[in-house]
Amino acid sequence: MAALAARGAQRGQRLLCKIPAKVRTTWYSSSFSSSSVPATKLFIDGKFVESKTTEWIDIHNPATNEVVGRVPKATQSEMEAAVTSCKKALRNWSETSVLSRQQVFLRYQQLIKDNLKEIAKIITLEQGKTLADAEGDVFRGLQVVEHACSVTSLLLGETLPSITKDMDTYTYRLPLGVCAGIAPFNFPAMIPLWMFPMAMVCGNTFLMKPSERVPGALMFLAKLLQDAGAPDGTLNIIHGQHEAVNFICDHPDIKAISFVGSNQAGEYIYERGSRNGKRVQSNMGAKNHGVVMPDANKENTLNQLVGAAFGAAGQRCMALSTAVLVGEAKKWLPELVERAKNLRVNAGDQPGADLGPLISSHAKERVCQLIESGVKEGATLLLDGRDIKVKGYEKGNFVGPTILAKVQPSMTCYKEEIFGPVLVVLEVDTLDDAIELVNSNPYGNGTAIFTTNGAAARKYSHLVDVGQVGVNVPIPVPLPMFSFTGSRASFRGNTNFYGKQSSLLPGGPLARSIVYSHLYSDVCGVTISISGRITP
Ligand code: NAD
Repeated sequence: MAALAARGAQRGQRLLCKIPAKVRTTWYSSSFSSSSVPATKLFIDGKFVESKTTEWIDIHNPATNEVVGRVPKATQSEMEAAVTSCKKALRNWSETSVLSRQQVFLRYQQLIKDNLKEIAKIITLEQGKTLADAEGDVFRGLQVVEHACSVTSLLLGETLPSITKDMDTYTYRLPLGVCAGIAPFNFPAMIPLWMFPMAMVCGNTFLMKPSERVPGALMFLAKLLQDAGAPDGTLNIIHGQHEAVNFICDHPDIKAISFVGSNQAGEYIYERGSRNGKRVQSNMGAKNHGVVMPDANKENTLNQLVGAAFGAAGQRCMALSTAVLVGEAKKWLPELVERAKNLRVNAGDQPGADLGPLISSHAKERVCQLIESGVKEGATLLLDGRDIKVKGYEKGNFVGPTILAKVQPSMTCYKEEIFGPVLVVLEVDTLDDAIELVNSNPYGNGTAIFTTNGAAARKYSHLVDVGQVGVNVPIPVPLPMFSFTGSRASFRGNTNFYGKQSSLLPGGPLARSIVYSHLYSDVCGVTISISGRITP
């Protein structure tokens, strides 16, 4: 065990040596040596501080299972200190001019650009995804920071003069106060960047709790935010698991919570936070269907399906994990299998890797069990990635691309979110059958239709009850000028991440309404991304 930790420490040190020393020593304890692993600090009141806790969680490199760091379960008094700091900073920050807050984020977006590759290395070490995917992770978060720089337009109020003879009506928005974010492991940079930049640029202060499995990227981002000029206390970071989550849900000074992660945690946080009077937005699990019409462009569709099902080892909430082949499209299945076989599985930092390992050995075990359940319940295993061996990384949590065909809606592998490189394939006769299938699934995060028929595209995108709908776009994550949403079991709350909506976010400012505020109007539930040639 000690030898394992020592090797992990060496590997961690090797990687850390590639990160600028000024940044590296800031968020890891300076005392790590070959016999111990780096300990992640807390970020409280503008200082990176070592936790006094006695409880630590190991961080593993998913490609080797070596321990590469550890993260503290922050103590009660450390968590209290973080909220006190947010509260203390709120007065000045909320009264800082919107132009000054905008300047901080203009500098911040440049600093993220300058350090994008270094942040990506940390993500690959702790999370396992390929360096290309890790850079994409930072890049998609960066786009939200760029969007935050539009705050001067997003915060405009509304005016209706002369509502009666001698009375005008106007609305304007004020910060809510201290807000908090709880993030998952699969996008260590992007999802925290969905949360604190929008909230902070609007004048709120923010407490972040990253996933205990991947804290490094957020620590780096915090350092850059400080360098960009964010005053002490405007962003604080605590680490931990359930106790930290309960602390956030219960603390009376926290006014709103942004959560992204699994249904188990998300439903719990939504209920507990709401019960305590907080605004909560909770983006949760998914089972995303890709509906393939027989008139689709075959070449594009198969390539897109393979990338969207297996990329990032399927650990994306928008992974296209379910293919629905309509009518004659079922004949394309053998070609789909051939393309999936060509994907290269390797450690994320190895050149040419298409997909890396799963986050943990437990995740691998769960994914393998779900594949086995499909076989037992009558599905046809066309491609089996369970026994894959990756040379030089024999202890990693790898699962190769796997395809289960002839899947029925009653099977466990269809009902559960697998969150691994597994594509389940169903066959239906008509577009109407596909729509019924998708709308009967409990989740409503993302979906795509592949077709060259404009009428089919329109019908699908209007009748399907799913947050993000792509037409010939496999992973239709909206750019930050639109909102990211979700329906049914994928989302709880009534305000969305980023877009114009973001200025109404729990993390964003409250619309103080005098007569009427669109805060109380419905959120448009569908984002449709259309690309490719559509012929009516
Ligand atoms: P997770 O729910 O296990 O963890 C998310 C956060 O909640 C972590 O910070 C963790 O410490 C905390 N947590 C975990 N279990 C908890 C519990 N029982 N009680 C209280 N807090 C708890 O999620 P994950 O495994 O890190 O992420 C994967 C999940 O996130 C998948 O289900 C995926 O679909 C979902 N996800 C959704 C979106 C979206 O936008 N809808 C985006 C990314 C990921």
